Amino acid sequence: MTPIAPRVTRRQLERIVRQWTRRLGLERWDVTLCWDEWDEEKQAHAYIWRSRDYDRAALYLNPAERLTWSELDAHRYVVHELLHLATREAESVLDLVKERLHPDAHAILEEAHRHELEGIVDRLAYRLVELAGVT
Ligand SMILES: [Zn+2]
Repeated sequence: MTPIAPRVTRRQLERIVRQWTRRLGLERWDVTLCWDEWDEEKQAHAYIWRSRDYDRAALYLNPAERLTWSELDAHRYVVHELLHLATREAESVLDLVKERLHPDAHAILEEAHRHELEGIVDRLAYRLVELAGVT
């Protein structure tokens, strides 16, 4: 019989967010956890809104699937979203050249840039969680 992995609780999720905010050196950020709000357009485990000018963010955890997450899933998804705080400036760098590029060129560059950063954030999140010994 396969053991069923215990599911993560709200209290554990709050602890995971605090733990990784500290580990990633993001203590200056004011991160609000949003439990019941969700943009139905989003096809994701979680997403994060960041202020452009202030270190404020809102972390949204998919309420339809959150209760099915294992602790390992929760760590991976939370770290992924928090890493997007660390990459805020890198993600907005293309705004600097938007007015100087043809709109098509900018759109292609923006999509490639977004895709590459997303890959980096995701691989880094999984690796950091692994290095932290979360199983
Ligand atoms: Zn992402």
